Amino acid sequence: MRILLVEDAKSVVQVMTARLSSYGHEVVHAENGKVAVDRFEAASPDLVLMDIEMPVMNGFEASHCIRQLEAHKQWAWTPIIFLTSSDTVENLVTAIEAGGDDFMAKFAPEPVLKAKMKAMARIAAMRQSLSIANKKLQSLADQDGLTGLANRRSMDTKVDAIWQNAASTASAFSILMIDIDNFKKYNDHYGHQSGDDCLRHVAQALDCAVAHANTCITRDAFTARYGGEEFAVIIPGGSDGPARMLAQSLVETVRNLSIPHQMNAQWGIVTISVGGASVEKPEGPVKVAFRLADARLYQAKNLGRNCAVAA
Ligand code: GH3
Ligand code: MG
Ligand code: MG
Ligand code: MG
Repeated sequence: MRILLVEDAKSVVQVMTARLSSYGHEVVHAENGKVAVDRFEAASPDLVLMDIEMPVMNGFEASHCIRQLEAHKQWAWTPIIFLTSSDTVENLVTAIEAGGDDFMAKFAPEPVLKAKMKAMARIAAMRQSLSIANKKLQSLADQDGLTGLANRRSMDTKVDAIWQNAASTASAFSILMIDIDNFKKYNDHYGHQSGDDCLRHVAQALDCAVAHANTCITRDAFTARYGGEEFAVIIPGGSDGPARMLAQSLVETVRNLSIPHQMNAQWGIVTISVGGASVEKPEGPVKVAFRLADARLYQAKNLGRNCAVAA
């Protein structure tokens, strides 16, 4: 474990550091509560051993500040054990109220310290696996199962934040709505399984094209599966010109895949239609931009499909 040892008495620091290091732990020292709070995030400890009486900032205040730092992060709770030379009932209650988890005498016999550290190491290991599992779950929850793109839910969350940011910084925002042409006929003709393969293929191509665009005409644009055979590309900071260029290049990207689709009118291959909307000064609800893009997608369909309307 990485242990943050917060203690002003040098003799205690020496003894504790020697003991903890001999059990294989890494010790980061802070000489008072203020230093501990300042170092907490950079040190990212698995455990805090906290003295109570210290100059500048005492252990109770420091623990309170550490809990406030953690309040902004989901699932963050670093165990804090108070070190004391006087384990009075009052101290114990105050320690727990300040956000501490346990209480230990500074000069506890070595086997006691060793046993407590063993228990804490078990908790640290469990917290680490939980954190890894949480990250995996979060990324699964944000992903569309079929295509691996951002799903609708995660897109909506991201879009809200991007739109708010664009509104407060008066920067542009563009979206493209993409719909596969005559996809119902594709399923009817080639089967649903092939339809799924086609969706994956198109999704991957759109995602690659958007990633490529991010190196030259856009920045931070991303693709999401909007629903069914519809995709959306969100272009933060994107104004009309780049949005139109990207819309056109996506139509060409899918056309260039040359996936056979006999039932797609005169084209004979899988094609998409794209509707784009750019807002130079975002205000009001973001759904206005989506509605505009949708209306233009409808125009693209009426123009014969396999094209983009983004102006
Ligand atoms: P248009 O050119 O006007 O867009 O015609 P369309 O046939 O593509 O439009 P429509 O909305 O009528 O049909 C969409 C089809 O997409 C119907 C549905 O079966 C298919 N679809 C939606 N989600 C999936 C999916 O996950 N897998 C497969 N294979 N098909 C899907
Ligand atoms: Mg002290
Ligand atoms: Mg559709
Ligand atoms: Mg369609």
